[in-house]
Formats: sequence, structure tokens, C-alpha cells
Amino acid sequence: MHDQNKYLTKYVLRYCRNFMTDEERLICDYLLYKEYPTNNYKVKFIKYKLGLTPKIEEALDAIFETKTKEEFYKEMVERIVKNHNSDLNLCPKCNEVARTDTAKQCRFCSHDWH
Ligand SMILES: [Zn+2]
Repeated sequence: MHDQNKYLTKYVLRYCRNFMTDEERLICDYLLYKEYPTNNYKVKFIKYKLGLTPKIEEALDAIFETKTKEEFYKEMVERIVKNHNSDLNLCPKCNEVARTDTAKQCRFCSHDWH
């Protein structure tokens, strides 16, 4: 089940931004851009556009003093899977998540639903 969770998280991060709450979306962006050097002007601009001010980044840092990145992703993915199950591209045969939101073949059981 562990591998599937990894795929599910990837899928949600890539294709389910519209199912995230504003806060979840901001946190995902924060986690993504946190790794970049702060003096990179492009990253600075992107962060500014996303509303990631230094104050907000500080507040988000505080969240991760009590919870790991993995825990955050896990909670968010579980919530989205629960609330938007019918909107996800799941294999009709084994119910695992497809590679993309438009894929019609399962990477786990090879079922094809073209
Ligand atoms: Zn399948």
C-alpha cells in the first residue's frame, strides 16, 4: 500500500489543486519553493505572486514544527480522496490511481478502459 500512497500523493499534487483548500494550496506551494535559494529573483517573484510573504512563510514554518511534511500530505490526500473520490481518475478494476487525470490504462493491474 505504501507505493500506491506515493503515487496518490503525486497525483493529488499535480491534478487536484482545485480540490485543495486555499490553505492547503499555499502550504503545497510553500513546501515546493522552500527548497529554492531565497535570493533567486524568479522564485521571489513567484512567491510574491502566490502570496507567500516572509510573514506567511514564518507562520507556515511554525506548522511544521509539530507535523512533518509527509503527515501534512497524507492528511490532505486522505481528505481529497474522501471528498472527491468520483473526481479522481481511478482504475475501474483495481481502484488504484491512474498515472494522469486522462490516462486510460492502469499501471498497477494493466487494465485498459479506452
Ligand atoms: Zn488497475
